[in-house]
Amino acid sequence: MKYIFVTGGVVSSLGKGLAAASLGTLLELRGLKVVLQKLDPYLNVDPGTMNPFQHGEVYVLADGAETDLDLGHYERFTNCVLTRANNLTSGQVYETVLAKERRGDYLGKTVQVIPHITDEIKARIREVGVNSGADVVITEIGGTTGDIEGLPFLEAIRQFILEAGTGNAIIMHVTLVPFIKAAGELKTKPTQQSIAKLREIGLQPQVLICRTEMPLDEDVRQKLSLFCNVPLDAVVEAGDVDHTIYEAPLNLREEGLDSTVCRLLNLQTKEPNLTDWKRFVQRVISPKKRVRIAIVGKYIELQDAYKSIYESLTHAGAANDCGIDMVLVDAEDIEIEGAEKYLQGVAGVLVPGGFGDRGVEGKIKAARYARESRTPFLGLCLGMQVATIEFARNACGLESANSTEFDPNTKNPVIAILEEQKDVTDKGGSMRLGTWQTKFLEGSHAHQVYGKTEASERHRHRYEFNMKYRQILEEKGFVISGTSPDGNLVELVELKNHPWYLACQYHPEFQSKPNAPHPLFKAFITASLANEE
Ligand code: GLN
Repeated sequence: MKYIFVTGGVVSSLGKGLAAASLGTLLELRGLKVVLQKLDPYLNVDPGTMNPFQHGEVYVLADGAETDLDLGHYERFTNCVLTRANNLTSGQVYETVLAKERRGDYLGKTVQVIPHITDEIKARIREVGVNSGADVVITEIGGTTGDIEGLPFLEAIRQFILEAGTGNAIIMHVTLVPFIKAAGELKTKPTQQSIAKLREIGLQPQVLICRTEMPLDEDVRQKLSLFCNVPLDAVVEAGDVDHTIYEAPLNLREEGLDSTVCRLLNLQTKEPNLTDWKRFVQRVISPKKRVRIAIVGKYIELQDAYKSIYESLTHAGAANDCGIDMVLVDAEDIEIEGAEKYLQGVAGVLVPGGFGDRGVEGKIKAARYARESRTPFLGLCLGMQVATIEFARNACGLESANSTEFDPNTKNPVIAILEEQKDVTDKGGSMRLGTWQTKFLEGSHAHQVYGKTEASERHRHRYEFNMKYRQILEEKGFVISGTSPDGNLVELVELKNHPWYLACQYHPEFQSKPNAPHPLFKAFITASLANEE
């Protein structure tokens, strides 16, 4: 088994996750089995309790793990199967080590960062490799070199590489090569210094991914190679992508990254077949049509809060040979100025998931606008809950209808806390999480969209449709078209007298891939296109 560790230098936000995922794509297309893992130095046990301002989207895995959004890149860029073991935080490491200490597993020894914390980290890296049966394990280390909290992870990697032996483990360092306008030059010093920082603790990267706004000329490459002690062909230029993040593997391939990595790790493989990937990228870059889709959320000013949704729309667009113009609408603006002003003229409306009552009334107005104007509507999780509240209020005359999340004393709790959640007090990892089966109503719109009667979808919620209101709503044309297999829990709803109005309790956005768009997103875009014509 071969190991690649991905570190970052100089500044954060260089796209380490994307670089790791793109390398994964290339190695997979060379016929290797790849698995990716992220080590996060913060003390939270998982990012599930962090808000989107802190951490962007929380990405949910099939096993219900709430993970870093980079795991979304890993799943979209490769076919690797990820579980909670693939996202390790300092919080988890300390939790495990302290539990062992309390059990007496250390037999009276002093428990220390080295070796106990570092041993635990190494064991977790090895475990991911062994359990996946992969040829190559790519492990990304969150944060930037020089961070104090990252040190135990870097020390663990030093030990790991020593134990793995030459040719079996390498470090790929993602760094910034800034262009200084006044000097008209690319500068290598920050990279030299971040490498010096790594060498101080015994780490020598073998590959440099240089994020840059300008092409690296031969001189700059030579300099980076010399001062950073990296072979010349392992100095890799990574400019900003022109149109889409899916170009990244293609650009890195141009630079020969995969060949260099295979050489360094003594991996003999065929050349990668990039035909399908290129075709997808081409469809994203030059689609025949365009369509305007509104996303009505409360974190629309953040780039990362709805990441998987934006990606799923891109995949669905490509499948329809159509570019997506995403119209990001702040739900609170709709609250003040009405839906019409922001949504008139869009071809489809999407309301994503969320927690807490800020912006909820705006999302309810958006759902109403889509229903009344017969605009295609896709509601995800909270989006399904607001669609229900809206219908109860405005189509069934239940004026005070609400979710008990927002109004615990509402007279008409059409959305209420899940039975299993009633006694839950902890916030961490305690929602209804991960994969659950949904059964579709024969002949429903949902059944037609999926082309099958059952599907596995990922969940993350505490509240649900209150079955007491089923009849009242159904009499007015509300259709419960997806439920849990026992029929007790509502998973998907639609409207009878509407061209395309579907809303689900689950998160389809966690299962869409470039060349395998999620059926709900794909059909939503098809319907939006039809609406525009
Ligand atoms: N806040 C809602 C719930 O807990 C919706 C959750 C979500 O959108 N992920 O059920």
